[in-house]
Amino acid sequence: MASSTKKAPAAAAAHSMFDAVLARLDKAAEIFGLAPEVAEVLRHPKKEVAVSLPIKMDDGSVKVFEGYRTVHSTHLGPSKGGIRYAMDVNADEVRALAAWMTFKCAIANLPYGGGKGGIKCDPRTMSVGELERLTRAYTRAMADVFGVNKDIPAPDMGTGKREMAWLLDEFNRIQGEDSPGVVTGKPLTLGGSKGREAATGRGVMVASLAAMKKMGIHHKNATAAVQGFGNVGSHAARLLAGKNIKVNAISDHTGAYYNEKGIDIENALKYAAANGNTLKGFTGAEAITNAQLLTLDVDLLVPAAIQGVITGANAGDIKAKLIVEGANGPTEADADEILNNKGIIVVPDVLANGGGVTVSYFEWVQNKYGHYWSEEEVNTKHDASMSQAFENVWFNAQQYKTSMRIGAYVTALKKVDKAIRYKGNY
Ligand code: GLU
Repeated sequence: MASSTKKAPAAAAAHSMFDAVLARLDKAAEIFGLAPEVAEVLRHPKKEVAVSLPIKMDDGSVKVFEGYRTVHSTHLGPSKGGIRYAMDVNADEVRALAAWMTFKCAIANLPYGGGKGGIKCDPRTMSVGELERLTRAYTRAMADVFGVNKDIPAPDMGTGKREMAWLLDEFNRIQGEDSPGVVTGKPLTLGGSKGREAATGRGVMVASLAAMKKMGIHHKNATAAVQGFGNVGSHAARLLAGKNIKVNAISDHTGAYYNEKGIDIENALKYAAANGNTLKGFTGAEAITNAQLLTLDVDLLVPAAIQGVITGANAGDIKAKLIVEGANGPTEADADEILNNKGIIVVPDVLANGGGVTVSYFEWVQNKYGHYWSEEEVNTKHDASMSQAFENVWFNAQQYKTSMRIGAYVTALKKVDKAIRYKGNY
């Protein structure tokens, strides 16, 4: 098992996701007047670890997987962020996602820095045994990176409470003691928090309602399209429908589904649960494409699937008045200006999907206390925290006469800048 700690490459590849982060960071730094030395610190991740993970597959062969963990910043506290299992995982993507976690945690007002991890693999084609061996090997390789007060992983795309349980168990074996707070998004019986699974979708709902209120859209007459029906999109769609918003379209990687009268989300959830967690063949709506979903004439568009779906090429066709980013990085940097010029309000990922990490923080606090809260308590605290974060970003966007995205970065920079200056010692 090879392990290395290396510095960020001097120049990221063209169209890299980390470049997209730097483009927004530079813009916010200029508007905010961030000192160049502080900007320079934030342009580089603190630590990057890349490992090779040889795994015995069920057929007896050995496959070597690439694993990553990047700590972008620990200025506000231990680094926090999920672990992604997907085929497009690479050092650049993990670096971008880690930096977004720094900004996300600062905006959500959490005492955390940012980190992210990932393994390049296709979990849909792997057996449970293979996934368990891979998760345990990754945990062993990252055992000196993770820590309750050091770096705290959580689920992301392709992972969930099952993987977090394996990670916790392997970490505990290595340490020889129980440290439930070393990972969040755990099953309830292993110290998970009530409300964690629905939290990211819940945050999207809270942010959507807050934005609609500012924009003078009455949510009871509003329509929405939600891209993605995984941990974020399915809960977002359910909770939006629960607020009487008509969800006209939903989708997953198998396709998109449209119904002018509104989709019965409870029915779609039941369908997906009985159908191997996919919407393939869903009959409660007409089949359209994921590309068509993005340009539907609805009030609210929630991209909650993958990154890079709103681009310079399709941004001009978007008809929604409001975009609330459930996914990380669904809008490419070159689409920002097109959307702004069209007067579309974009609630950016670093604010909109911060509900997940907010309840991860509550989970970590409960683990530290050894005392657990009711779902109502979690949800009440979450909603208050999310509403406050939204107001702070809205305020900064107005004050600096900029978009909510750059306003969100400014909100984060204000805090991280202070922390870097207090800590000093360059
Ligand atoms: N992976 C989630 C995110 O991107 C959650 C991270 C966490 O809870 O630490 O926000």
